[in-house]
Amino acid sequence: STFDSMGIRDELLRGIYAYGFEKPSAIQQRAIRPIIQNRDVIAQAQSGTGKTSMIALAVCQIIDTTVREVQALILSPTRELAAQTEKVILAIGDYINVRAHSCIGGKNIGEDIRKLENGVHVVSGTPGRVYDMIKRRTLGTRAMKLLVLDESDEMLSRGFKDQIYDVYRYLPPELQVVLISATLPHEILEMTSKFMTDPIRILV
Ligand code: AMP
Repeated sequence: STFDSMGIRDELLRGIYAYGFEKPSAIQQRAIRPIIQNRDVIAQAQSGTGKTSMIALAVCQIIDTTVREVQALILSPTRELAAQTEKVILAIGDYINVRAHSCIGGKNIGEDIRKLENGVHVVSGTPGRVYDMIKRRTLGTRAMKLLVLDESDEMLSRGFKDQIYDVYRYLPPELQVVLISATLPHEILEMTSKFMTDPIRILV
């Protein structure tokens, strides 16, 4: 399988090849197509499998860059992962001029407000700061199409469960959800049944 045969738009293919990738990794081969087709996907995968680039690709494919509203939200357990995901989105999405911002705890809130008010397509963040921005109505949710929950088991073990549910309650009902987790304990499966519709399950 190749990136060319997945239905990815040309400007994004250019971004992927410019980033140095030649062939999709196992998770990319199996998850990108259903995500692009707007299916809900549960991917059981660890870091190091290419999941961050998989998220970046899916997000960049799904957003409409002529609409300057937040259309994709990625929640991560740590500031480092949220920032890394933003970085990969900006790199792979270079040729579509994607506007992304990371909302992470510990950083100046004024900077978040300024960036969000200027208009971004994608937000990558930790659940606490993202929920804060949504409650202040600085982060608008009405154009949101895709929610990605990255390292979900890790988010739960860091105590973010309530904040994830709080964020979810603000998102539109027709939302597409992609959940990534190394393990699928009961609390994760509970989330998948609350948030997802007929999900495809992928194990890599
Ligand atoms: P990740 O699991 O997304 O953190 O990716 C782990 C490492 O693999 C990172 O250094 C990525 O840049 C690299 N990587 C991801 N996908 C590919 C690919 N299709 N081809 C080559 N390297 C990749």
